[in-house]
Amino acid sequence: MPFTELGLSNKVLAAVAASGYTIPTPIQQQAIPHVLARRDVLGIAQTGTGKTAAFVLPMLTMLEKGRARARMPRTLILEPTRELAAQVEESFIKYGSQHKLNVALIIGGVSFDNQDSKLVRGVDVLIATPGRLLDHSERGRLLMSGVELLVIDEADRMLDMGFIPDIERICKLVPFTRQTLFFTATMPPEIQRITEQFLHNPVRVEVSKPATTVDAIKQQLVKTGREPHDKRDTLRRLINSADSFKNAIIFCNRKREVAQLHRSLVRHGFNAAALHGDMDQSARTAALDGFRRGDTTLLIASDVAARGLDIPDVSHIFNFDVPHHADDYVHRIGRTGRAGKTGTAITIVSPADGKSVAAIEKLIGQSIAWAGEPPAAADEQPRADESPRRQERDGGRGKRHGRGPRQDRAPRTHDRAPAAAPVAAAPQERPPAPVARIDEPRHRPAPVAAAPVRHHEPDDASLSQLPAFLLRPIRLKA
Ligand code: AMP
Repeated sequence: MPFTELGLSNKVLAAVAASGYTIPTPIQQQAIPHVLARRDVLGIAQTGTGKTAAFVLPMLTMLEKGRARARMPRTLILEPTRELAAQVEESFIKYGSQHKLNVALIIGGVSFDNQDSKLVRGVDVLIATPGRLLDHSERGRLLMSGVELLVIDEADRMLDMGFIPDIERICKLVPFTRQTLFFTATMPPEIQRITEQFLHNPVRVEVSKPATTVDAIKQQLVKTGREPHDKRDTLRRLINSADSFKNAIIFCNRKREVAQLHRSLVRHGFNAAALHGDMDQSARTAALDGFRRGDTTLLIASDVAARGLDIPDVSHIFNFDVPHHADDYVHRIGRTGRAGKTGTAITIVSPADGKSVAAIEKLIGQSIAWAGEPPAAADEQPRADESPRRQERDGGRGKRHGRGPRQDRAPRTHDRAPAAAPVAAAPQERPPAPVARIDEPRHRPAPVAAAPVRHHEPDDASLSQLPAFLLRPIRLKA
């Protein structure tokens, strides 16, 4: 089915043709006619399937009629991260080149005042992260009662990041009669509940990631030692010897490792930039833009910061750390092999990573080949100090028991909770994700030979609160 049969306006069709697209992707074919017919849509699709255009193109068509009023956006798109929000804004700029629409980006980490002056001018399309949006709303700077269409994108990612309570609040602030487009890659029970509560008789559209995307990625495992310097040596060797190398995204599990590895690679003369959630927004944007333009060759990133980013031409992905959650592996390697290109994804595997690799292979339904020697089975020992991805995701926010990360929010001017109420007493929307407590006793297998002195390295800021005796180097007895 060509684009011309989907019901899009001539202006939008011209922009699509100018983008060089000839055939709508499956999600576009299935969703666009329903969006134009004003139906609610539940889209089960990942990034890379063309889902952004599946909502942006019909929205542009619909917005050709009517105009915006001050502080009352006509449409609202919610994204979990600032980068994804910025990417959607770019899509509006690209496909909306012939439309005179006011598009505003409301994300954390940047000045309120500029955002406020945009809101005053009237906004056709408001693209926002939930926390900053609620801040503007609570300050009385934004009225959501004029929203005709609400898009909730990457809903399962919102769940992971603790944004669901914010999403529920926003859904109650927009009119009941609005149209809702809801996109998620997976359907955990919490997301199912939200769709039942906030979508009205939705059309369900489900697409899987095109198989060619995975086929286009050469995946490999490479054995390394247990210590960080072993992994750094291995990584440098891999970068220097990689075939058809153009550029690479290097994923670490924690923000702290991103910063450390970045410093190390720069010291070794590599052209590298870091991207993680603790950086301020201008630094994040600069890192990403530099990498997109090709000024930077290596981007060292955390999962959250890099999730869903559309960087069309990445030749290599290196997993400096094996992700703790197998679905993150799929998202990471999906940053290469995009837009018809091929790519290579190499995962550095230390003796502690056997279980995580097995989970990945189970999820993707195939075993990944070892480049060079596979590890002997006896090498595989779990580390007692592993901690799950939530630490990276929210820098300890896992302890917030499902509340939003709030990194995109300013201090509340009028919080509803009584001033004296302890934080722990706040109502919890869902139980905390299981977080490996950093202060739990560490169970290490008894070493078979004299073990070297292990200098304990604190993993994050929370360790600074540990009593000093727990941080002293220990010698394991033979
Ligand atoms: P998304 O899933 O929205 O992140 O889109 C993934 C990539 O597919 C982006 O680079 C889009 O520019 C591209 N894309 C979207 N629709 C089409 C299409 N119909 N034909 C070719 N490429 C497309």
